[in-house]
Amino acid sequence: MTGRLKLPEAALTEIYRCFRCGYCRSACPTFAVTGSESWNARGRLLLARALLEGQLEPTPGLLDRLFSCNSCLACEAVCPAVVEVVDALVALKEALITSGAELPDRIARLAEAVVEQGSPFASGAREFTAQGERPADVLVFAGCVASELEPDIIRALEKLLDAAGLSYSVLEGPCCGLPLLKMGFRHRAAEAARRLADKLRAAGAELVITPCPMCFEMLLHYLPRLVGLNVRAEHVSIFLKRLLREGKLVLKRKVELKATYHDPCVLGRGLGIYEAPRELIWQAGLALVEMPRSKRSSVCCGYGHLNFLAYPELVDAIAEERVKEALAAGADVLITACPSCLHALSGAARRVARALAVSDITEVLAELV
Ligand code: SF4
Ligand code: SF4
Repeated sequence: MTGRLKLPEAALTEIYRCFRCGYCRSACPTFAVTGSESWNARGRLLLARALLEGQLEPTPGLLDRLFSCNSCLACEAVCPAVVEVVDALVALKEALITSGAELPDRIARLAEAVVEQGSPFASGAREFTAQGERPADVLVFAGCVASELEPDIIRALEKLLDAAGLSYSVLEGPCCGLPLLKMGFRHRAAEAARRLADKLRAAGAELVITPCPMCFEMLLHYLPRLVGLNVRAEHVSIFLKRLLREGKLVLKRKVELKATYHDPCVLGRGLGIYEAPRELIWQAGLALVEMPRSKRSSVCCGYGHLNFLAYPELVDAIAEERVKEALAAGADVLITACPSCLHALSGAARRVARALAVSDITEVLAELV
C-alpha cells in the first residue's frame, strides 16, 4: 500500500490528454518485443490513471511495466496529440518512490549501486578522478558505460585529441546520474550530479566533451538545474565536426564501404543532433545508406538509461531487430554515436548478423588519422 500519489499538474494533464488512439504501438520498443499493451506507452498511461484513481495497487509486476520504459521518446514522435509521455511517466515514478511503493528488486539494486558505488559497474565504493594533463584544453568525461563496457571509444578519442595537438585529461568511471533521474530518483540523481560537478570543477578544463548522449544531456541541461553548474560541453560528434572544419584534425585516408547510421534516442530525438554524425561519416569517405527508421523516426536500441542492466530479457531482442534492419539496408558497417547503443548493437550483431561491422563514430575516425 502507498500513500496518495502526488503529481505535478503538468504531468497529470499529460496523462489525461492521451486519447487512447494507440498510434504509439507502432513505435514503442518494449511493446514490439512483448506484444502486450501494458508494455506500451498507452498502456502505461492507462496504468497511471488506474493508480491515480485507486483502481490498482502498485504491485512489483505493475511497476515493472512503468520502470521498463527506457525514455526513448519514440512514442512522442508519433503521438498525434504530442503527449509528453516520458515526463509524465518520470513524474509518476518519482511520486511512487516518494509514496514508499515497494520497487522491483532490480530497480532498487541498480539505483543503490549507482549511488553507493558511483557506477553500476563498480564493485564497492570508488572514488573516480580525472587523469592526465592539468589544466587541459579538454576534459573527456567518459561516463560509466564507455568506461566499463566500451573503453575502445575512449582510446579512439585520445588518439584523435593527440592528432589534433590538444591537451586533455580523462574522467573515467562515474555515472552522470541521468538514468537515476529518468527512473524517478530525483534526489539521488542530484547527489550523483553534485559529485560529478565537484570532479568537473577540480579538473578545471575549458571544455568538457563526452561520447555519451546521456552524459551530454546531464552536462547540458541537468547540471545547471540540479546543482547550478554551467559547463561548456559538447558531444564528441559536434566537437569532432568542428575540429575537422577548422582544419585542426585531418583525416589522412578514406574508407570505401557502405555505412548506415543508428541515431541514438537521446542524441537525436532528445537533443536534435542528427547531422553532425552524418557529416563525420561523409568526411570518412563512407557511402551513407539510411535505414527506413532514421532520424526522428529512429528506433531505440533498447539499452538507454541503463535499462539493459534492469531488463536484459527485453532489450536484447530490440537490438537484434535493429541490426537486421541495418543488414537489410545493405550496409557493411553500422555506425552510432553512443556507448550504450554500440554495446547493444555490437552484441546483437555477434548473435544474429555476423556479416555486419558495428562501430562508434569516434572509432571510425581514429582509424583514419
Ligand atoms: S499515440 Fe499518444 S494519444 Fe495515442 S495512445 Fe499513444 S500516447 Fe495516447
Ligand atoms: S518512451 Fe519509449 S519505451 Fe517508453 S513508452 Fe515511449 S516508446 Fe515506449
